[in-house]
Amino acid sequence: MQTRFELKQSDMPTRWYNVQADLDKPLPPPLHPLTLKPAGPDDMAPIFPMALIAQEMSGDRYIDIPDEVQEILRLWRPTPLMRAVRLEKALGTPAKIFFKYEGSSPTGSHKPNTAVAQAYYNKISGITKLTTETGAGQWGSALAMACNFFDIECKVYMVKVSYQLKPGRRSVMQLFGASVTASPSDETDSGRAILAEDPESPGSLGIAISEAVEVALKRDDTKYSLGSVLNHVLMHQTVIGEEVIKQLDLAGVSEPDVVIGCVGGGSNFGGIALPFLRQNLKDGAKTRLVAVEPMACPTMTKGLYAYDYGDTAKMAPVIKMRTLGHDFVPPSIHAGGLRYHGMAPILSALHSEGLIEAVAVPQVETFQAAQLFAQTEGIIPAPESAHAIRAAVDEALDAKAKEEERTIVFGLSGHGYLDLTSYDAFLGGHLDNYAYPEEKVREALGKLPHPEQA
Ligand SMILES: *Cc1c(COP(=O)(O)O)cnc(C)c1O
Repeated sequence: MQTRFELKQSDMPTRWYNVQADLDKPLPPPLHPLTLKPAGPDDMAPIFPMALIAQEMSGDRYIDIPDEVQEILRLWRPTPLMRAVRLEKALGTPAKIFFKYEGSSPTGSHKPNTAVAQAYYNKISGITKLTTETGAGQWGSALAMACNFFDIECKVYMVKVSYQLKPGRRSVMQLFGASVTASPSDETDSGRAILAEDPESPGSLGIAISEAVEVALKRDDTKYSLGSVLNHVLMHQTVIGEEVIKQLDLAGVSEPDVVIGCVGGGSNFGGIALPFLRQNLKDGAKTRLVAVEPMACPTMTKGLYAYDYGDTAKMAPVIKMRTLGHDFVPPSIHAGGLRYHGMAPILSALHSEGLIEAVAVPQVETFQAAQLFAQTEGIIPAPESAHAIRAAVDEALDAKAKEEERTIVFGLSGHGYLDLTSYDAFLGGHLDNYAYPEEKVREALGKLPHPEQA
């Protein structure tokens, strides 16, 4: 049986899909963090290059991928779509399970898809240095590689717990020539403020973003780069879903029943799901689109849909999104990439319109699904991606109970070969399940900005 569906290099998408063109109503505008008034392109220019700001706000349905970007993406794209026949057998399910493997990129996740595009647009805007944050290190590695290709300096603020737990990732970034600092650090005002309050702060993505944005704001030759959440980032990731559509065609599937992806800030899920959403909206398809998050960071399932700051020090634009509150310091679960307090505005809007679904899964069962996947398909998944596997397995078991031939597609956003400490903890029985308490979500509500009073 055919289990691997490959495209030729010449089949790689040459344009990105911008879902904003197909939304019923435009997204609520981002706000300036100081005035809480709608932020125009000029307000964002100190942190992002104009070309990316234009993409962020664009209403064009498709945007051409520049040749220089395509050339680098072709180092690993198109990525394979696989049918997980051995997993299906192990589950005894009549469902067909397909997965799109983004772990086959050079740094092991989907993140280089946008890192390369962002480095390119900064380069042609004359920028010589990019700053960013990283949690687990996947984004930092991807941007470090991309900056290296375009000869841009790269400065990464890495969440302190991850810096300590994942020295391997730090080396990857350094090999590509990036400089890496544990966050909170004493290099920035925002880092020093956090350290003054709590010298032992484990850090968070919100704090690391503040440090990176602060540095970009202070220098003309420096901009900031974000690996998820923003509209242009989700758009750069749509090459994933566009390829899956062509690959499913090769597999004889015209319309899958469900497409699943894990969500941290929403980029890999947006990347695989948005081209299918287009088919739902334009061609009358009825594919269910399911975003999966950890119960410990339940942004979509328990967060509020409200304007909130993108970072802890309130320097990044204020956006309307699902949020657990900008001062959310996540419990130290082992899926570092899924611990952001907010969620992509596009996905937040689609979720409140009922166009996508969201589920939260517990940590231990997620690692169990990862182990089953490794034992059947041979790939050790990133702990983040394991959330999508958990949900796909649950779909397959539900299809079994109902005796349905469901077609399930999930995004395997990365491999886990640099996350073995997490698997050590799992194998040693040191993981537990933690659900983020409702009271905490309510508490965060009190700290949200109130644009209507600005
Ligand atoms: C960063 C990361 C995620 C989470 O980020 P999204 O923007 O939601 O995709 C998921 N999987 C992997 C492997 C990652 O590196």
